[in-house]
Amino acid sequence: MDFNDSKEQAEFRAEVRAWLELNANRRADEVQIMRGQEGGYERAKAWYKKVADAGYACLAWPKEYGGAGLSQIHQVIWSQEVADFDTADGYFVIGIGNCGPAVQAFAPEEVKRDLLPKMASAEHVWCQLFSEPAAGSDVAGLRTRAEFDGDKWLLNGQKIWTSGAQHSDYGVVLTRTDPGVSKYRGLTLFMIDLKQPGVEVKPIKQMDGGRHFNEVFFNDAVVPDAYRLGEVGGGWGGALHVLMNERMAISGVQPNGFAQFLHFCQHTEVDGERVIDDPVVADRLASWYARDAGLRNANWRMLTAIAGGGVPGAEASLGKLVGAVMNQEIANFSVDYYNEAGAIMDDTVNVLEGHFQRSVLFSPGIRLAGGTDEIMRNIIAEQVLGLPQEPRVDKGIPFNEIPTGS
Ligand SMILES: Cc1cc2nc3c(=O)[nH]c(=O)nc-3n(C[C@H](O)[C@H](O)[C@H](O)COP(=O)(O)OP(=O)(O)OC[C@H]3O[C@@H](n4cnc5c(N)ncnc54)[C@H](O)[C@@H]3O)c2cc1C
Repeated sequence: MDFNDSKEQAEFRAEVRAWLELNANRRADEVQIMRGQEGGYERAKAWYKKVADAGYACLAWPKEYGGAGLSQIHQVIWSQEVADFDTADGYFVIGIGNCGPAVQAFAPEEVKRDLLPKMASAEHVWCQLFSEPAAGSDVAGLRTRAEFDGDKWLLNGQKIWTSGAQHSDYGVVLTRTDPGVSKYRGLTLFMIDLKQPGVEVKPIKQMDGGRHFNEVFFNDAVVPDAYRLGEVGGGWGGALHVLMNERMAISGVQPNGFAQFLHFCQHTEVDGERVIDDPVVADRLASWYARDAGLRNANWRMLTAIAGGGVPGAEASLGKLVGAVMNQEIANFSVDYYNEAGAIMDDTVNVLEGHFQRSVLFSPGIRLAGGTDEIMRNIIAEQVLGLPQEPRVDKGIPFNEIPTGS
């Protein structure tokens, strides 16, 4: 692992920091409060246009696709510096972080030049349409059909849990094009224009009051063949490309709750005593500090490997598993610590503007999004520890012959 900047990297870091000091507000006490995403997209788009105009959007992407033609390490430096400021980069992580690399890898050249610059500047928002009511962990079991119709594809079916679809212009969608072969071989990946009559987006209201994700229905939705990402039947490879980049993208923005907990401990008094002086709290703080430090260093190791031309590895699954569990533990502990006040949901009187109350309600979802705890454990067991694969009873069976129980 190399924590030191080269001379050129140090200069770039100083330049980025100076620009951020002029154009963004510092995060109060370096604590990011979790707020609902409602109404935030317009502010986020305005911010990201400023970033793009200054030449800092998608630093590692080629210039012809709206990037800056720099390296992954420049992108890492940007992410590290921007973390100290109150900005809205996280709104576009699904498009730029997950979909963008797949579009670059698989779309025809003229489509890339048309769509990627607008993704890079956040003029267009993108979402990821993989999960379905009966296909989440087992996403290759999906049923949304794409059928070739002359010169275009027609999509029919339903996606669910699609984050940000109600704000999105385009999506990357995984479909079944051949149910007569085994489930992994009959899939094809496409880009889709979501602002068309054949697409209906229905937001889902969550228990925290927000509307983060959606159901998306396709009814003869049209996709030109030029929007196909890779070969017909090669969608599983494309999907893995998206998921691999998703793991890397979320490892930088996934909350683990530690910064907020430390802030709470240092700045809050109960009956005249600082919270941090309570030995029960100090014990928890030490344990979560160790996990936070471990996560940061594992993330650094992955970024160092990527900067050297490697690919995101299983550290991201480890980070997702540990960070998401810790995030929920911290939220539950803190709200419990508030006693009766923990039951109050009012930003104006709550400690940290109700961050932990909201987190109690949203943190279970973070343990599911991007792969559940159990799926992360399977990945670590099989791909890191080399343990035997879990039984896959549908292996090699044509998709339309797999018993469904209905
Ligand atoms: C906040 C949030 C945002 C999301 N955003 C998106 C998005 O933008 N796009 C998108 O496509 N999807 C999105 N999802 C969906 C997410 O990918 C799925 O929820 C996740 O993959 C789990 O699928 P499922 O909900 O169908 O649960 P299931 O797959 O039905 O799992 C149910 C339970 O069974 C367990 N289980 C399943 N298979 C195994 C196994 N092989 N071994 C052990 N245990 C197993 C699971 O761990 C879980 O506890 C989002 C979800 C959330 C919560």
